[in-house]
Amino acid sequence: MLKLSDSVETLSGVGAKRVTALNSLGIFTINDLLFYFPFRYDDLKVKSLAEVTDQEKITLKGTVIAAPILNRFGPNKNRLIVRLLVEHQVVIVTFFNQPWLKDRFIPDTVVAVFGKWDQRRRGLTGMKFFSPKGDNDLAGIYSVNKNIRQSTLIKLVKLAFEKYQSVIGNLVPIDIRQRYRLLDDREIITGMHFPKTAAEVKAAHRSAVFREFFVFECRMQAMRQKERQGNQGLSLKYQLAAVQDFIHELPFELTQAQKRVVNEIAADMKRPYQMNRLLQGDVGSGKTIVAAIALFSAVTAGYQAALMVPTEILATQHFEKLQPLFAKMNVVTTLLTGATTNKNRRKIDENLVQGRVNILIGTHALIQESVHFKNLGFVVIDEQHRFGVNQRKALREKGLHPDVLMMTATPIPRTLAITTYGEMDVSTIDQLPSGRKPIKTYWLKNNQDQQAFAFVRRQLVQHNQAFVISPLIEESETMDLKNAELLYERYREAFAPEYEVALLHGQMSNDDKNTVMAAFAKNEVQILVATTVVEVGVDVPNANTMIIYDADRFGLSQLHQLRGRVGRGQQQAYCLLVAQPKNEVAVARLQAMTETNDGFVLSEKDLELRGPGDVFGQKQSGLPDFQIGDPVADFNVLQVAQTEAQQIFVDDPSLSKAEHQTLRTFLKTTIDLKRLD
Ligand code: ADP
Ligand code: MG
Repeated sequence: MLKLSDSVETLSGVGAKRVTALNSLGIFTINDLLFYFPFRYDDLKVKSLAEVTDQEKITLKGTVIAAPILNRFGPNKNRLIVRLLVEHQVVIVTFFNQPWLKDRFIPDTVVAVFGKWDQRRRGLTGMKFFSPKGDNDLAGIYSVNKNIRQSTLIKLVKLAFEKYQSVIGNLVPIDIRQRYRLLDDREIITGMHFPKTAAEVKAAHRSAVFREFFVFECRMQAMRQKERQGNQGLSLKYQLAAVQDFIHELPFELTQAQKRVVNEIAADMKRPYQMNRLLQGDVGSGKTIVAAIALFSAVTAGYQAALMVPTEILATQHFEKLQPLFAKMNVVTTLLTGATTNKNRRKIDENLVQGRVNILIGTHALIQESVHFKNLGFVVIDEQHRFGVNQRKALREKGLHPDVLMMTATPIPRTLAITTYGEMDVSTIDQLPSGRKPIKTYWLKNNQDQQAFAFVRRQLVQHNQAFVISPLIEESETMDLKNAELLYERYREAFAPEYEVALLHGQMSNDDKNTVMAAFAKNEVQILVATTVVEVGVDVPNANTMIIYDADRFGLSQLHQLRGRVGRGQQQAYCLLVAQPKNEVAVARLQAMTETNDGFVLSEKDLELRGPGDVFGQKQSGLPDFQIGDPVADFNVLQVAQTEAQQIFVDDPSLSKAEHQTLRTFLKTTIDLKRLD
């Protein structure tokens, strides 16, 4: 029986060489071939000589007068001259470097050629040859390589369509197609490959984009379903009353958004499979406290919980903030970092195994093999993008397949959230605690210290504090340090001894870093000159001013993160960007920073300026390759496709309904799905 999953080999005339050529385009099956669409179309409507204009690209139809002449100028340089009789006039058509066309121009036959018209010569620079038998107005142009020609590909598509058209099913169920007025698969194929009008292409293209996204989203759903079946996670039955008490004891009222995500996380904890959830929220939106509530809930369910953060400073800061909150509820919290002495570490290990520690906060020291828990049931990873995939995995695999909550302050553009993180559940805090004033951001185009100093001084007089970030030199820690030291000297000259200025950089010992941070947190230091070590998570509410030197060297999300270090208290906060950018992209980034404080808006802007691959660095390079859909430009379509795909998997998880059969078969051939077998 014919199946669309048949190999392209089954087509007549496709031997080993063509199989290899097709494979090199990513075409393996008949289905791949039928859905390998042109990337543009040339208008082949035959023009009359009376209506052509100079340099216009046109198609002419005429009779070949005599055998064409081929002139060779070198190994790969040649010219083919053909004389055509078009509407009783002789037209000279010249093809460069397409010698094989010579045999196609047989005297006294009618042919069509596409090319650029030269009014003065009354000739055509030929680009394509067509046999005018077909009455198509449009010719699809496919992306091919040196192994295969356009014409061959078109021929194979036709062949495949003729042979297999009776078995073309319908991937997108009919109710969805009707709801969005979409064409069915066969109509998409004919419209994309063999269109007669531009309108036909447009309709087919719209449906094809939806179909492509829909397939992608269904695959995502299926994979997610499979993962859930494969993992026997924990059901964390937390004690609601105790959790409510804990929330009651907090020094502030949770925002609506915090309440919503707490509920989402709690519901997920109770479910019997391993949680794989991302909590995203802009800098300062209050993710830490949400994490704390979740950690505490896990403890009330009788499990140990851990919070892993990327830096020493942050671990210490979290510990100092959370430990007292937990202690009030008789929950024991311990800090474990690279700086923990061996003696202490042994004690901590002992206490963990015995279950005397309920919550462990630390850096990646947590995932070392020597660390054993009695019953680790819940894990939070803060600033998750700072950890490698393997580190996250190591933590997931510790203990009893704990539930995992990852947090990020890099708001993910909606496009990336849907595509890249499709297999994760996402909770979003889209609101800042009330009373926050938007940070005012200014761009100082001149690197003039006096301006910046004057600004800082005005703030210090009002008992505020300032961060000063020194330029980042790619791949040179020594240069980074040197810059920071110079900047530190400049600020000391201007402000000491009246004000205390301190320096913080990555090469300091952990003890020294902590001492400096502690002094800054206590306002014993008023100006903290730092390299980007302060980027992540540091929370000093009394600091209201952030100055970033050579701001054009930073990426948008990094700038936004840095700016997020201020604006956490009640006073007006400021961010000064000092930069003389050399290119337009950098200008656009700085401009965007001065225009909005919204991390989601900035992340979309970033995506627009850099392209998806770069937003998360090469490692996690963003978007999957879509053939015709553009997840940024066609975002609305993507969103609808996702909603519809999700609904199908809710209504009919095993895809057993009749209208889901084609989809089921298709997914089964592309991923191995136990449940669907
Ligand atoms: P982030 O989401 O960037 O990790 P934090 O969790 O560090 O933000 O919170 C930023 C600041 O806001 C902290 O000082 C925290 O105590 C405070 N905060 C968090 N939630 C609220 C709230 N609901 N009301 C007032 N302040 C809050
Ligand atoms: Mg944080």
